[in-house]
Amino acid sequence: MAEYAKSVAALCTVPVDAPQCESEKWVCSLCGYIYDPAEGDPAHDVAPGTPWEKVPATWSCPLCGVDKEMFKKAQ
Ligand SMILES: [Zn+2]
Repeated sequence: MAEYAKSVAALCTVPVDAPQCESEKWVCSLCGYIYDPAEGDPAHDVAPGTPWEKVPATWSCPLCGVDKEMFKKAQ
């Protein structure tokens, strides 16, 4: 396997030290609110630095209240 491919594969399998994975933003498909992992949502018990996968399933859009399922990965 090429070294390049190995390093890319490693980026998303290591839970810590993977800023590329943790910095993925998610957008509410209803109101356009953007969840930024770097900021989290402290007002709703989501600490800054929380990746999308770690946001509780009970969390909902702070603007319009829809479920996590209504969010799409930002391009
Ligand atoms: Zn929303």
